[in-house]
Amino acid sequence: MGMKKEGLKLFENGKRIDGRAYDELRPIKMEVGVLKRADGSCYLEWGGNKVLAAVYGPRECLPRHTQDPLKARINYRYNMAPFSTDERVRPGPSRRSIEISKLSKEALEHVIFTEYFPKTSIDIFVEILQADAGTRCAGLTAASLALADAGIPMKSLITACAAGKIDGKVVLDLGKLEDNFGEADLPIAYMPRTKELVYLQMDGDLTKDEFKEALRLALKGCDEIYRIQRDALKKAYEGEVNGR
Ligand code: UDP
Repeated sequence: MGMKKEGLKLFENGKRIDGRAYDELRPIKMEVGVLKRADGSCYLEWGGNKVLAAVYGPRECLPRHTQDPLKARINYRYNMAPFSTDERVRPGPSRRSIEISKLSKEALEHVIFTEYFPKTSIDIFVEILQADAGTRCAGLTAASLALADAGIPMKSLITACAAGKIDGKVVLDLGKLEDNFGEADLPIAYMPRTKELVYLQMDGDLTKDEFKEALRLALKGCDEIYRIQRDALKKAYEGEVNGR
């Protein structure tokens, strides 16, 4: 975000560098139930992002002193594979991955009925296999489907998407070059059923009007993604995927 590149035009003649319109998402596909040993799982591709989410639980929360007698504890680990970016990612948690994990966990605490499962933990692992901007949104969207696949009761799915600003224009779903050389990025997540926002971050600067436009676009993106999420669940549970 905010880097300058001489002569690079991100938005020209109404089109973006990859040919998209300002309000167009990158192609997205999702499949649930891809991992046998997890209680729930999801594989998601979103533009150049490739993400696996796995859910275990509710299961006994260990070590015991971390148990909550009134509700389930949610653990969320966002992790970038060393081969997921151009430069090898140093293995282990980073400041960035700890921040993303914390906010994603807090978003999910809003939708999971944690009080149904006291003393347990629900463990969510998000592995970014290939990163191409927008991985925190891709991870949360995949995690929410993996939770549904695990049969964990939730108030709503969570759908995440970002909007941002490139060459002064507010656009939906930044790609990698747009993320690196753009002016702002606004990733959000919301509960499509109740329209409650559960995640919002902002990198860069937006005016008040630009912020409103970015939020409008991101919510519109979420509505499209929600449809894809529901289709993926329907497909899995109509017995069309993996013979289930
Ligand atoms: N990225 C990278 N190495 C890192 C962190 C990020 O190459 O250690 C790339 C990666 O492609 C990522 C993009 O930069 O998707 C944007 O990162 P950001 O922190 O904005 O998070 P994201 O948009 O993926 O949620």
